[in-house]
Amino acid sequence: MSYELDYEKKVSCPCEKGQIVETSSSNDWNQVKSNIYIECMDCKNKYHIEYQYAIHGDHDVSIPYLVPNGETLIRNNSYNINEVPFSKQLCLSYSLDILDMVYQVLCKSTTYSKITDETTRSIVRRSKRSVNGTMRINTVRECVSEAIQNYNNLNVNYDKDTERIADVKKRSLRIMNL
Ligand SMILES: [Zn+2]
Repeated sequence: MSYELDYEKKVSCPCEKGQIVETSSSNDWNQVKSNIYIECMDCKNKYHIEYQYAIHGDHDVSIPYLVPNGETLIRNNSYNINEVPFSKQLCLSYSLDILDMVYQVLCKSTTYSKITDETTRSIVRRSKRSVNGTMRINTVRECVSEAIQNYNNLNVNYDKDTERIADVKKRSLRIMNL
């Protein structure tokens, strides 16, 4: 069954020589397909479209941005868990402040069942799925300690990536009025 166009909306592109187009189509089973694309060669050479997700009241909204080509607002935390050491995974997934806090919790805890902090609990569970495959508190604590020691030496970590994303966002344009 083919999709039929329900609506199409256009707004000016940044250089104003072309347009940004949003379309929404649906088929007989009420499946909806939406798309936003750039209809301007100059702007297409400069930007691509990415979405940022936000919670608006009780539903998720996706906000479209024009992002400079060669850059991305997407966090750099996808990796093969079998290849990246657990301590490095922690650096990519958490801020240094959080890791410091988790380390303090792990210093005071001897068993998983006694830990109440949710972030610490999820890190311990995650350790089981990592190369080490352990939930031993001592081992997890050593990994967290190693992550804290190496944190700032890494080219990419959660905090540096947060800064990078904020910087890319400054050079990106939110697509308004679609
Ligand atoms: Zn343009």
